[in-house]
Parts: sequence; C-alpha cells; structure tokens
Amino acid sequence: MIFQCTIHQTVMISGVGLHSGQRINMTLRPAEAGTGIVFHRTEGERTVSIEALSTNVIDTRLATVIGKSGLSVSTIEHLMAALTAFGIDNLHIDIDGPEVPILDGSALPYVALLEQAGLRSLPRSRKYLAVRKPMTVIDGEKRATMIPSRFFRLTADIAFDHPCIAQQHRSVKLSTELFCRDLAPARTFGFLREVEFLKANGLARGGSLENAVVIGEERILNPEGLRFSDEFVRHKLLDAVGDFSLAGFPILGHIKTFKGGHDINHQMVEQLLAAPEAWRFVEFSDRDLEEALHAGVPVFAGTDLALHKI
Ligand SMILES: [Zn+2]
Repeated sequence: MIFQCTIHQTVMISGVGLHSGQRINMTLRPAEAGTGIVFHRTEGERTVSIEALSTNVIDTRLATVIGKSGLSVSTIEHLMAALTAFGIDNLHIDIDGPEVPILDGSALPYVALLEQAGLRSLPRSRKYLAVRKPMTVIDGEKRATMIPSRFFRLTADIAFDHPCIAQQHRSVKLSTELFCRDLAPARTFGFLREVEFLKANGLARGGSLENAVVIGEERILNPEGLRFSDEFVRHKLLDAVGDFSLAGFPILGHIKTFKGGHDINHQMVEQLLAAPEAWRFVEFSDRDLEEALHAGVPVFAGTDLALHKI
C-alpha cells in the first residue's frame, strides 16, 4: 500500500506576516496517522486547533484564511502546497500569530524546511480522492473545471491587461520534483497601485520587494527581475496546489482554471466535497505499487501515480 507520511523531525521557522507585518514563529511537528494537517494557533494564553480543511476557510479575498473560535491563520497556501508536493498527510503546526510567514513570497523556503525535517512513513494506507465526473464553477469571467485523471494535473490560464503579464498558460503533472523545480520558486505578485491601496488600509504592512514581485505602470519594480518569464502563472499553479489540498485528501484529477484565484479554488473544493457521486476514495495495494515501480513511476510522495484502476 502507499503509506501516509509525516515529517521525521521537528523544525522551526520565523518570519513576518505579509499583511500584519508581525514577526511570527512557526513549529512543524510530526503527527500520527489520521491526524491530517492541524494548525495550533496561540494568542496569549489561548490555543485553538484549526484543521487545514475547506470547512474551516473563513476568507479568500487576499489569501486563503482558516479560522475557528475567533482565531485565524492567513496565507496558508504556500506552506500547504509544499506539504502536498512532499506527500505529507499528517502534521502539527504551532503558530503564534495570524499569518503563515511570507518569507520570500514563494514556497522555496518551505521546500528547504521540509528537506531539513525529512519524511517518515506511518503504518496506515493513504486515501486519494479520485475525480470521476467533470465539474465546473463559473464566477463572472473566472472559471474552474475538474475532470478525471490518473494523475494530479493542473492547468492555469491568466489574462491581465498589463504588458508585464498579458496572457500566460501553463500545465503541469504534479510531482515532488516538478514542484520544487518549476512552481516552488514562483513568488506572490501584486500591482504597485494595489499595494499602495492595501497599505493605506492597514494591510500588506509586511509587503516589500523582498517578498513579492511588484508590478509598476510599465515594468517590474524588483531590481533582480523575474525568476521565470512566466512566474505569474506558475505562482497561480502553486497557490492552486495549496488551495486544493484543503479537500483533505490528495486529489487524482485534472484541475483547469481561467483567471483563477483563492476564491474560485475554494468554491471548486466545496462543490466537489458536496457531490460525492463525482468522486470516490482510492487506495493502492502492494500489487498496484509493484506495477507502478515496474513502470518506473516514482511513488513515494504519491502525487504522481500512473495506475490502471482509476
Ligand atoms: Zn500565493
């Protein structure tokens, strides 16, 4: 079978929150099989445990925010994307502020953190959510569709009325290696006029050229330029990997978005979970695994399986 995973050893990371500007400390600890990903948000004497599930999503306007009992954790998507790509099913995350640290605006620091933590498999089979019927969510000109696939595939199209971005398209079949190389380095981006507006409203206080690509009227303001010519659409894919992890199980399906964002990603996950006839749980036997290994398919993270049963 494919076993569930957690991290091998406890690791810590600190950094500022994009919106609050606060310095935030976060500790990732191994968790038992069946725990899922759980944030333990502390404020003063209080600690509230918030499962990283779509049922706990309370806001998707600027970032994906989960909350419970009056405490919340914002901007979980880059960390969640890295956990998904590494196949981590179970984890405790202690956090002492309202946001996951933004770090450099990409998932690369989380990749380094998980490499430091290492992986440990747990004695329980991992369940996958295999999409069986196509689904679509339309919200104005934004659109998301999900169709059956033997892999976890993502395709994103974006279109901005700005010469630095214009139209970008990218399609990926997710694996740990692909994520680390092609998606994790892609940074958050924003337009200078929006950043100024957010700052005037007490948001984006921690935002700087150190943790986001900032787009001026005619050019990118970051002196180092872009990490990829299509960094923007790559970041959309990175966000989607994190947002779709809130289904609670790794997905085997092909998700396509047009002008996508946290809001429509969340709507799609909710629609999926509300329609059990559109998917089923799949687990893999030793024989399936043998076949996959024989076919040269890497199976450790389990995000890149090519098997015949789906
Ligand atoms: Zn993002």
